[in-house]
Amino acid sequence: MLDLQSDHVNMPTDEMWDTMRATKAGWAVGGKDPTVNRLQELAAQKTGKEAALLVMTGRMATLLGLMTCCCRGRQVVLEKDSHIVWGEEWGLAYVCGAFARLVEGRQGVMNPGDVERAITESRFKHTPVTDLVCLENTHNMAGGTVLTLAQTKALCDVAHRHGARILLDGARIFYAAVAQGLDVAQLAADADLVTFSLTKGLSAPAGAMLCGSRALIEEAYHNMRRIGAHSFHKAGILAAAGIVALEKMVARLADDIRRAKAFATAASRIPRLSVDLASVHTNIVMVDISGAGVDSARFLELLRQQEVSALEFTPEIIRFTFHRHIGDGDVATIVSALRSVVEILAR
Ligand SMILES: *Cc1c(COP(=O)(O)O)cnc(C)c1O
Repeated sequence: MLDLQSDHVNMPTDEMWDTMRATKAGWAVGGKDPTVNRLQELAAQKTGKEAALLVMTGRMATLLGLMTCCCRGRQVVLEKDSHIVWGEEWGLAYVCGAFARLVEGRQGVMNPGDVERAITESRFKHTPVTDLVCLENTHNMAGGTVLTLAQTKALCDVAHRHGARILLDGARIFYAAVAQGLDVAQLAADADLVTFSLTKGLSAPAGAMLCGSRALIEEAYHNMRRIGAHSFHKAGILAAAGIVALEKMVARLADDIRRAKAFATAASRIPRLSVDLASVHTNIVMVDISGAGVDSARFLELLRQQEVSALEFTPEIIRFTFHRHIGDGDVATIVSALRSVVEILAR
């Protein structure tokens, strides 16, 4: 079975298993695990920040970022299809008590003018205070689309001009960097906090990072204690794999992007299917199957019979996510599986 449901499905590399086996866990709670500390220094360096925290999941990293920047009853501006809105059970509201002000983006990218209006709009003596603007790079629900340097800078400038901070949800920011030939530090330069996942394309078994200034990360650490997430015992074993992820696994993300683009082009030529090629920037391809005469659930059932698994995104859209276990040779297999399903349905 070729599993393209997510890039989380990849397994640690042999080098990761070896280093985990050889790593002795320190006492991470007291900041005394040397491997965790080394990973945090490396993550800070890669994102161009002063400090970093290792946490269990990407969602925990964004939640800690939100807790660190948002006050109750204040406003957070974010793109209407962002992961924080649809993938995190509104922790922003439940935990932080903040109000989500949604702005519609194009390919996941908000217009700075729209963000400014959301920050400054005031009616009937109600003048919202905006603590935070959230960005997402790559944008998951827009199909892995990137924010460019110029777009990031313009959005950060607007937020900062109005006294709001920027939280950059960069779960897949290494894909955004590789796709654009940039360093993550460049893409994160103007963000106050940036998160990234070690488990997606980078293939680590667990972990995500929250990076920022020393002061913000110190505050985030207290928040981590408040939600019981800081007693991440034996984190050093996972941190060891995280170091391999950062040192060895970044350059290969280009392979996933190349395969995703090859697949997108081929899939777009299959009758009854459609792919917006302009939105294929990284390792995600959204295929619109509405012309095939069934919904995504049924289409996926038939696709699984062809030994290919992908993710139902909406009743019309199926998401294919490329990762380390999908090779160049698999692209043709996936395309012919799709073609077979379309033909079966057309009979
Ligand atoms: C995957 C993802 C997350 C969450 O990461 P987990 O490790 O699955 O919790 C957050 N934001 C974005 C944009 C993502 O794509």
